[in-house]
Amino acid sequence: MTLVVSHEDELLQKTVRSFFDEAVIPHEELVDRLGEVPEEIGREIETKSKELGLFASNLPESVGGGGLTYSQSAIIEREFGRTSHALHAWVARPTELLMACEGDQIAKYLTPCVSGEKRELFALTEPEAGSDAMGMKTNAKRDGDDWVLNGSKHFISAPTMADFAIVFAVTGVDETPRGNRKRITAFLVDRDLPGVEFREGNKCVSNRGYKTYELMFDDVRLGSGQVLGEEGRGFELAGQWLGMGRIWVGATCCGKAERMLELATEWAATRKQFGKPIGSFQATGFRLADMTIGLRTADLLVADAVRRADAGTMQDPDAAMVKVYCSEMLNKVADDTVQIYGGMGLMEEMPIHRLWRDSRIERIWDGTSEIQRHIITRSILRPLGA
Ligand SMILES: Cc1cc2nc3c(=O)[nH]c(=O)nc-3n(C[C@H](O)[C@H](O)[C@H](O)COP(=O)(O)OP(=O)(O)OC[C@H]3O[C@@H](n4cnc5c(N)ncnc54)[C@H](O)[C@@H]3O)c2cc1C
Repeated sequence: MTLVVSHEDELLQKTVRSFFDEAVIPHEELVDRLGEVPEEIGREIETKSKELGLFASNLPESVGGGGLTYSQSAIIEREFGRTSHALHAWVARPTELLMACEGDQIAKYLTPCVSGEKRELFALTEPEAGSDAMGMKTNAKRDGDDWVLNGSKHFISAPTMADFAIVFAVTGVDETPRGNRKRITAFLVDRDLPGVEFREGNKCVSNRGYKTYELMFDDVRLGSGQVLGEEGRGFELAGQWLGMGRIWVGATCCGKAERMLELATEWAATRKQFGKPIGSFQATGFRLADMTIGLRTADLLVADAVRRADAGTMQDPDAAMVKVYCSEMLNKVADDTVQIYGGMGLMEEMPIHRLWRDSRIERIWDGTSEIQRHIITRSILRPLGA
C-alpha cells in the first residue's frame, strides 16, 4: 500500500487493522440488521480507540489530539473504510473547523470534543439546498449584540445524538466583482437552547445505523460569542475542511475496495463451475485484474493528495479528483464483487450486499461526483477566462 512508507506507518496500520478485525468488524452484521449501533457497542469502540490513541488523532497535540500528519491520518481512514461508517464513526475525528474556536469557545466546544465528552454536527445541507449550498435559506439577523437564527437543516449525520452543531447561515449579502453573493457565517449552536430541535431524520440504506438528523431553528437567540471564526467567512472555513473530508472519503473507499477485492479473490479461487475455479475463466480473472488496477490507481491519488496537504499545497481540484475517482472505483469494485459471487453476492448471509450498499453513498455525500467534476472543470477553464 503506497501510504505506508516507514516502520511507524506500518505499526500504525497494523494496530488499526487488528483493532478493527477484533473489536469492530464482528458487530457489522448485528448493526446492519438492527439499523442502529447498540449504545454499549459504540461506547466500547470509543473507549478502546482512546486507549489506542486513535480518538481525535487528527487534531494537533497542542489541543490534546494525536497530532498525526495528513499522510498518517490517511492510513487510519483507509483502515476505517474496511467497515461501516456507523461503527468507525464512534472513533471521533472532530472537525478541524473547531480549531477556529477562540476564547471561551475552546473550553466549551473544542476541548470536550477532543476528550469525547461532546460531539458536534456539521450542518450545511438543507432540504432545498444540497449541491447548491449557496441556495441555503437558514439565516441569522442581528438584534443588538445578539443574533436570531431561523431555518432548518437536513441529512446532518453523526453516529449518535450530538451536543451542538456548527450551523451555516446567511447573515447578509456582499457585493463582489461576480455580482451579489450571500454572506455565510458559521455559528456554534447548542442543542438545549430554546427554539432548537435536533431530531432523527430519514434512515439511509448505506451504513445502516449511522444516523441523519433534522435540525430546526425557531427564533434561536445566539450571543456574539457563538460565531465560529469571522462573521461572513463561514464558507471559507467550511471549504478548508471539505477538501480534506473529500480526501478521507477517497481513503475510506480504498479500504472498502481492498476488503471487497480480498473477498472476491477468495471466492474466485475456491468456487468451482465446469470443474474449475471460476477465477480461471478469463472473464473473472480479467475482472480481478481491472479491480486491482483501479485500487492501485486510487491509492496513488490519495497518497499524492495527502502529501500535497502535508506540504500545504493541496488545492480543491486535487481533493475533487480523489473523491470522484476513488468513489467511482469503489462502486465498480463493489458491483464486480457481486458479479463474481453470483447469486450468493445478494444473499443476506454474506457480507457482500452490505458492503455494496455501503459503497453507494460515497458518490453522493461530501459533494456528488457531478459537483466534483464541476470543481475540476472550473480549475481547467477559469485560467483561460472561460
Ligand atoms: C447519509 C448522508 C449523510 C450526510 N451528512 C451530512 C452532514 O453531516 N452535513 C451536511 O451538511 N450534509 C450532509 N449530507 C448531505 C450531502 O452532502 C448531500 O446529500 C449532497 O451534497 C448532495 O445534495 P442533495 O442530496 O440535496 O442532492 P441534489 O443537490 O439535489 O442533487 C441531485 C442530483 O443532481 C445533481 N446535480 C445538482 N446540481 C448539479 C449541477 N450543477 N450539475 C450537475 N449535476 C447536478 C447531483 O450531482 C445529483 O446527482 C449527507 C447526506 C447523506 C445522504
